[in-house]
Amino acid sequence: MTFPVVGMVGGGQLARMTHEAGIPLGIRFKLLSDTARDSAAQVVGDVVVGDYRDLETLRAFAQGCDVITFDHEHVPTEHLRALEADGIAVRPGPDALQHAHDKGVMRARLSEIGVPCPRHRLVTDPADVARFAAEGDGFPVVLKTVVGGYDGKGVWVVRDEDGATDPFLAGVPVLAEEKVDFVRELAANVVRSPHGQAVAYPVVESVQVNGVCDTVIAPAPDLGAELSAQAQQLALTIAAELGVVGHLAVELFETRDGRILVNELAMRPHNSGHWTQDGAITSQFANHVRAVLDLPLGDPRPRAKWTVMSNVLGGDFPDMYSAYLHCMARDPQLKIHMYGKDVKPGRKVGHVNTYGDDLADVRERARHAADYLRGTITE
Ligand code: ADP
Repeated sequence: MTFPVVGMVGGGQLARMTHEAGIPLGIRFKLLSDTARDSAAQVVGDVVVGDYRDLETLRAFAQGCDVITFDHEHVPTEHLRALEADGIAVRPGPDALQHAHDKGVMRARLSEIGVPCPRHRLVTDPADVARFAAEGDGFPVVLKTVVGGYDGKGVWVVRDEDGATDPFLAGVPVLAEEKVDFVRELAANVVRSPHGQAVAYPVVESVQVNGVCDTVIAPAPDLGAELSAQAQQLALTIAAELGVVGHLAVELFETRDGRILVNELAMRPHNSGHWTQDGAITSQFANHVRAVLDLPLGDPRPRAKWTVMSNVLGGDFPDMYSAYLHCMARDPQLKIHMYGKDVKPGRKVGHVNTYGDDLADVRERARHAADYLRGTITE
């Protein structure tokens, strides 16, 4: 058997869908998962249940893998350095991944290479937050724990000094940022290989509801050619400067005065790229697999004029399968992707993709299917 083994750390839906993309290529997967029930652990044949925070667990897991990659950015950077010192191919490597792991490191490095970011600095306590506010346009200010946040957890919008105590309770360094007056959020997604080959997907609009991604529209409607090219170039520059291997998502704010600012980076397949499964010639997952194996990258261009992805969040209605009958009958072009996760309120349990020529229609079909699966509508 000459086909390589990809070691995937983390058993979430991103791992599950990356594995899925490797199947037609005959790529073998080995998974390090927190539990045997995790989304990817249900479908990967070779699963090790263990703690990614433990170096010896990681070392034992890496035996027999040709390359290690990730479904999240939480593995301690020093462990990744130790694996590299053992001669293991870690992609993306720790030098790159530390920027996705720690928002403070990310902001410092992006500022150094001249990437436009919101005004920011590390803060030590609520009084320091008040000083940060006074140095700029005042409150509100956005506070973020530098590590461990996701889906809006670990992010606070604070209106005064008294409201700034919670972020400091976790004992993790806190980053303060100006609250950007943005018109919308965009994402520029690129994939880069160790050879330095890189591809850029069309820039997308990402609609957030309560800090969680709700819908992604590809390409971002009414985004001028200049701003679009600028966003793609920015993402390619960040990927090259930071030495990223694999998929890089650059989350952006489009400001009222027509600028783009970088919000954050993810160095793995990302929710803003799920549309590529059905809407691009090569999906983000397939290209991530190719990149970590240093294979030539696939064409990132769209297959349809518009593709819309809507997340399916858990609601009060646990039996999503019973909704398939209606959804599939109503829209034969609908693509449903479920993650095998238990339905809990607000939890991402799947997504749908729709595509076509009429954006309003494509959006309506995605919205309808996501709401029907969730159980918030019944017809
Ligand atoms: P995470 O992805 O870890 O949840 P983010 O840094 O992406 O955290 O923040 C979550 C959301 O909070 C963003 O999508 C955006 O809507 C809002 N947000 C974050 N930073 C700012 C900021 N500086 N100004 C305005 N809104 C922000």
